[in-house]
Amino acid sequence: MNPNILQTPIDYLKGVGPARADVLRSELGIHTYQDLIHLFPNRYLDKTQYYKINQLQRTSAEVQIVGKIINIKTVAQKRGKRLVAKFIDNTGEMELVWFRGHKWIRENLKLNTPYVIFGKTKYYNGYSMPHPEMELLEEHEKNLRTAMQPIYPSTEKLSNKGVTNRAVIKMMQQLFMETKVRFYDTLAEDIVSELKLISKSEAIFNIHFPKSQELLAKAQYRLKFEELFYIQLQLITKKILRKQKIKGFPFTEVGTYFNSFYQNHLPFDLTNAQKKVIKEIRNDIGSSAQMNRLLQGDVGSGKTIVGLMTMLLAIDNGFQACLMAPTAILANQHYKGILELTKDLKINVKLLMGSSTTKERRLIHEELENGSLHILIGTHAVLEDKVKFHNLGLAIIDEQHRFGVAQRSKLWHKNRYPPHILVMTATPIPRTLAMSLYGDLDISVIDELPPGRKSIKTVHRYDSNRLQVFKFIADEIKKGRQIYMVYPLIEESEALDYKDLMDGYESVARSFPAPEYQISIVHGKMKPAAKDYEMERFVKGETQIMVATTVIEVGVNVPNASVMIIESAERFGLSQLHQLRGRVGRGAKQSYCILMTGHKLSSDSKTRLETMVRTNDGFDIAEVDLKLRGPGDIMGTQQSGVLNLKIADIVRDNDILKTARYYAMKVLNEDPTLSLEKNKVLNYTYQQMAKYKNIWNYIS
Ligand code: ADP
Ligand code: MG
Repeated sequence: MNPNILQTPIDYLKGVGPARADVLRSELGIHTYQDLIHLFPNRYLDKTQYYKINQLQRTSAEVQIVGKIINIKTVAQKRGKRLVAKFIDNTGEMELVWFRGHKWIRENLKLNTPYVIFGKTKYYNGYSMPHPEMELLEEHEKNLRTAMQPIYPSTEKLSNKGVTNRAVIKMMQQLFMETKVRFYDTLAEDIVSELKLISKSEAIFNIHFPKSQELLAKAQYRLKFEELFYIQLQLITKKILRKQKIKGFPFTEVGTYFNSFYQNHLPFDLTNAQKKVIKEIRNDIGSSAQMNRLLQGDVGSGKTIVGLMTMLLAIDNGFQACLMAPTAILANQHYKGILELTKDLKINVKLLMGSSTTKERRLIHEELENGSLHILIGTHAVLEDKVKFHNLGLAIIDEQHRFGVAQRSKLWHKNRYPPHILVMTATPIPRTLAMSLYGDLDISVIDELPPGRKSIKTVHRYDSNRLQVFKFIADEIKKGRQIYMVYPLIEESEALDYKDLMDGYESVARSFPAPEYQISIVHGKMKPAAKDYEMERFVKGETQIMVATTVIEVGVNVPNASVMIIESAERFGLSQLHQLRGRVGRGAKQSYCILMTGHKLSSDSKTRLETMVRTNDGFDIAEVDLKLRGPGDIMGTQQSGVLNLKIADIVRDNDILKTARYYAMKVLNEDPTLSLEKNKVLNYTYQQMAKYKNIWNYIS
């Protein structure tokens, strides 16, 4: 085969033509023969199965039936004409319906002749099948075909331009016939033989034209493995390179700031998990490589203190540090907390936010550049180009999933070498996902809560139980506790959501009247100053109830609050519910989370609520979330690009992912530069992949 043939523009394939080529390009990104070959089916239909009309069920997906048309007529309806044929087999009858192409169908369809029809059925006073695929039984039996029919990704535009699934299959057949396509093997022989993989060529052929269930399964395994293997190879190589090439600032000193804080000012004993993580961090920053570490720890696990102690190490070594948070509320809280913790240490800490005045900024810029500012805390504002450091050695990013990759990389350029980076997240990322997404980050986990925390009791209550819930709130307030009451705010239904919030506030205000009770309300439409004022009243304990939208989700710390009521809980995602629940249970008192819903619940909502009631473990919750939503939806993974997988699925193919990672590490341990003879093919493929950015584009 001419190796360049796969680069042929798709327009040249017989049966494609300019109009279809255009829509293939715009809808599926298919420009060349090669791209078409790597359009993998989403699923397969078992065409060995035939249905009888009396076996049809209302839930049937696509079915295949043998029968005859006994009459055909045009029916005029309000919304236009349609062609209706009566189709029978020896068990019953149904209708075939066409909304387009009437003339052609009338002229070509044969009455009383056996056909094989295929399509989706609908039920309305009997079964019907719109726009069936049809083939004369006689022809059908003559044609050689595979038993499993591939179903390719499709869009409405594609089918409107005549690029139906059937058309794609025809194109694929044409392509394989025209090019006699063969692929060199893209995996090293020892891997292929150890894992008993089928060859690349066989895999590609069988993914489109499966000869049997068994070969299809092997083809899928082989292609999924390969896809995940090269991603892991890339991630691990990046990590090795970073460790070798990117010089970091070695923080070799453990000096007076760190020691004096540790000995005299630490307000509590560190948990073992916190100690372990600090050790891991010290190992990183003490070496000459740059640290790039993800710190995962459930809400309330005490990540802040770990961050602060790392910053003290930076200062001990003559460097500056910055801490970036996603919201003004959270940045503010970090600022106050860290000021308090370091008040006896004589270090200069400042806060920079979008709302900082010109005067404040001028001072901050000056102190940053002359080196007298030790710790800068802030929001996105710290990323601005105007913000220049004298000697930034460490950047900490809190609640990382709210920041984009691009923003993170801005921090890298704030010194002549990139500073050490510590990313802290309270949304536990399941290991599987972390492995694929952050394969080039090191991961630390705080898997232990500070002592004395009682686990939060979570219950699910219906709106009809509201009286009891209010009584419970009254009892807790009597004991001196405070209550959160959170309403959803979804952008699409913002106006309605604000109405819910206000209605809710009024009903609470009626049941808990002033002056005995005081209520705070906080939402996104308030001016920042008003918001801060209301928040402050609650923090100080002047109000007993805080009615709010999800603005309080991140970070807010009021240890005396013991009840979290989440209204319309069915509308929240799992990770959000877990974050919200984390606002209580911060003091020594027993805390509660009450999930309020209506009676109508989807099965996903039920699963989410049951999961919340069952467990407090963030990792457990994250796994369920991943299963419910799929990886694409989770915390900004869309932008990572890593998850643009063609065939593998990080959740379902978890085991293959682990195997792929194992082999990638094994190969690189033995041969980090891929220069051994046996790894030549890996090296070549890897280079091609780097060149084309897409692992499927290198094959020829
Ligand atoms: P998160 O990991 O959610 O950011 P924080 O750092 O805000 O958690 O810590 C939550 C609370 O627990 C804070 O009030 C903090 O002072 C406290 N805390 C942290 N570590 C410990 C510890 N080892 N012992 C007792 N309390 C701790
Ligand atoms: Mg935190």
